[in-house]
Amino acid sequence: MKVFNRNGPRPRTSLLPSQFICVTWKVATGMALSAFLLTPTLAWSQPVPGSLEVHWNEGASDCSATPQEPLQVHQYEPQTFILRQSPCADFEANFIYLLIGSDKALLIDTGAVADPKAMPLAKTILELLPDKDHKKLPLLVAHTHRHLDHRAGDPQFESLPSVQIVPIDLEGVRAFYGFNNWPNGTAHLDLGDRTVDVIPTPGHNKTHIAFYDDRTGILFSGDFLLPGRLLIEDSAAYHESALRVVDFLKTRPLTHILGGHIELNAAGRAYRFGSHYHPNEHRLELARADLTALPTALERFNGFYARYPNYILTNPIHNLLALAIIAVAVLIFVVWGVRRLLRRRRG
Ligand SMILES: [Zn+2]
Ligand SMILES: [Zn+2]
Repeated sequence: MKVFNRNGPRPRTSLLPSQFICVTWKVATGMALSAFLLTPTLAWSQPVPGSLEVHWNEGASDCSATPQEPLQVHQYEPQTFILRQSPCADFEANFIYLLIGSDKALLIDTGAVADPKAMPLAKTILELLPDKDHKKLPLLVAHTHRHLDHRAGDPQFESLPSVQIVPIDLEGVRAFYGFNNWPNGTAHLDLGDRTVDVIPTPGHNKTHIAFYDDRTGILFSGDFLLPGRLLIEDSAAYHESALRVVDFLKTRPLTHILGGHIELNAAGRAYRFGSHYHPNEHRLELARADLTALPTALERFNGFYARYPNYILTNPIHNLLALAIIAVAVLIFVVWGVRRLLRRRRG
């Protein structure tokens, strides 16, 4: 069990990774154990409430006929922003999150569009960042995982002062957060009066991590858990990740689970892959029940496709292989049929 006093003073930190992050392992240290013994009732502070009353940009059936703002900005609460890329700008229509602390800010993902003219992400983020000591608050740009739709906007931040970008490869991720027993353990980002826990969640992708924000009680789940297709690359790793996150959140408040995309409509049906039009979208937020059902759903997964009310499990590689086998079988059957027909005619 991980133990630390959330109400105690937090050290001031700079953006250096070694100072920015501390890693706590599941095996309690002597210090943690004595803190636990001295603190018989650990109460997590109440999450700051926020609003998700917003209609997300649903794109259009003909994007060229209906010009759209590329980026929608929603203020969940004064220090938490949710940005949604228009489905017309890119069919992935990513959600991007900005968390502001008193010393630093954290950007979770940079979305699917690189071109600043088409997607003014860095400009928008800089406008949202408050000043501190006559300068913009330092910003850490992190990713839920290395898929291009979660990091294509990185180059917009590369030359900005006081911005640090977390590497995208697995070794870089492990080194940056200080994980030396990946995927076990959690890392902590101290933003100043706001701590964000980093939980390894491989399975969709080797580099996947989720972020738990102690200020709002939100789990930012990327593509690990979202109202859409959970694309499974490694089902054993995914299952372990689901168990790990369930365990991590067992004793913590959880207000919402916010992922990287919405791919379902309100009735739970998936939009066509690549669609720029999302009429009547499912709500972005998922709840604890969706998470707690995930380990069992993954255990029962048939390896191809399984539909649940708020998400779909699918393994694209297995489905492609199955399609290829069906295509080959159909081809063999057609060739066999044609040869038989020709033989009969000759006969
Ligand atoms: Zn992904
Ligand atoms: Zn994605």
